[in-house]
Amino acid sequence: MSFSLIPDYSFPDICKVTPEFLKEKGIRLLLLDLDNTMAPYGTVVPTREIAEWAENIRKSGVKTFILTNNNGSERVKALSEALGMGYIMGARKPLVTGINRALEKLGYSREETALAGDQIFTDVLAANCAGITSIVVRPIKITSPLLNLRYWLEAPFRALCPNKMDCPR
Ligand SMILES: [Mg+2]
Repeated sequence: MSFSLIPDYSFPDICKVTPEFLKEKGIRLLLLDLDNTMAPYGTVVPTREIAEWAENIRKSGVKTFILTNNNGSERVKALSEALGMGYIMGARKPLVTGINRALEKLGYSREETALAGDQIFTDVLAANCAGITSIVVRPIKITSPLLNLRYWLEAPFRALCPNKMDCPR
């Protein structure tokens, strides 16, 4: 449990996080950020690639669950249903309250839980503060100057990640 902005692992995108990797690390619950991790802002239907990835993870026995700061949106509901995942909206990352609620609701320990997301200052910080494994991915789409600035500010922390999983195929 630490107040750290450095992710434990970094991946180019969420589909590169494999069942084999999760199994090797002892991860049985994968909490997932939604916006720009699994779907670009504004979309309501997951891509085929994401849907297949989610199915593959689920088949491997790893529980997946959406933890989004997005609040009260029908879009969250639609995407979660399409992906066959439960969700918590308004998670208020980087606060750990959403993560704690998810762990309590689903009954997993911190040691067997990871959170994957595209933002250092919300997803990674929340995971590290909660004492679960933090995984950062690149945002799917940087659509505004503000997102670009944030990505630029995050760069040093992404660079400091000790386990960069570039996954050559
Ligand atoms: Mg996000």
